[in-house]
Amino acid sequence: MRRIGIIGLGNMGGRIAKRFLEQGVEVGVYDLSIDALEKLKALGAEATSSPAELAERYQYIITILPNVYIVKETILGDAGLMKGFRADSLLIEMTSSVPSVTKELSEIMKNRGFRMIDAPVSGGVKKAENGSLSIMVGGEADDFEEVKPLLDCIGQNVFHVGQAGAGHTIKALNNMISATTLAATGEAMALGVKLGLDPNKMLDVINSSTGKSFSSDYKFPDQILTRKFEVGFTLDLMVKDLKIAMSMAEEERVPMFISSSAFQLWKHASTQGGGNQDHTAIVKYIEEMVGVEIKG
Ligand code: NAD
Repeated sequence: MRRIGIIGLGNMGGRIAKRFLEQGVEVGVYDLSIDALEKLKALGAEATSSPAELAERYQYIITILPNVYIVKETILGDAGLMKGFRADSLLIEMTSSVPSVTKELSEIMKNRGFRMIDAPVSGGVKKAENGSLSIMVGGEADDFEEVKPLLDCIGQNVFHVGQAGAGHTIKALNNMISATTLAATGEAMALGVKLGLDPNKMLDVINSSTGKSFSSDYKFPDQILTRKFEVGFTLDLMVKDLKIAMSMAEEERVPMFISSSAFQLWKHASTQGGGNQDHTAIVKYIEEMVGVEIKG
């Protein structure tokens, strides 16, 4: 019987757990939220009372948590995973996290005889629901091969991209592109509306021309023109990813002319109290500045 333990049952982890259950995988769960635990229990998952208890019961553990501080506490804390890990345990760290810390954690685990890969995901809640996520794995090739059949239950494109931290590196870079593209498309769409163009027509043209992106193809027609703003990925989480990308660039002394401008916009939106909104609400901030609404 295939079995997996999952820590973090939010927008992504909850759906990933459900998907595993639908694929016939036995699932154990842990989350601080009782509501989240109860929901998964009702679907057939086994609830546990700490990361340590989950680690005692499951060989493979996924962490998909808000940030690196929580990940560290979950691994190294008083009732953390390290307290329950077995000799054959393997941690699959799916949080969008900080590569340098991931390397340190991976080293700490290795010194204690445990294994860890970083395996962040892309595709959002929709792809988590239907098992078609992209998964980018950093770590040992043998560990990747060992868990690949499990990852295939939730991902359609599962890549091994390099050693520890490599998954978290490409994840931050991907989201830097995604955040910059959404903001740039938002600016172009707002200007177009101000100049009297119809947003639907603009998207028809852009999506059959060179300006096309995931933002113009999906987020604008589905979320922004409809005024839904509910992709399920918060603005604050996007700001976190941008911060990670910017600090990597800072460390390597690599210039980021374009993305660092976009970062300033995202940071500003989050400090205006918008952090808990869906990340597509960044377009509302652009609309306010321009004085238009991009409505279908
Ligand atoms: P979320 O805020 O919806 O869920 C986080 C979950 O973690 C919550 O259920 C919360 O109760 C739980 N949690 C917080 N602290 C905890 C602790 N100490 N112990 C146990 N559980 C704890 O976040 P999300 O949108 O599911 O994102 C999770 C991770 O996946 C983030 O790192 C995010 O950047 C990344 N991600 C999200 C998306 C998306 O579309 N939402 C897409 C790709 C990657």
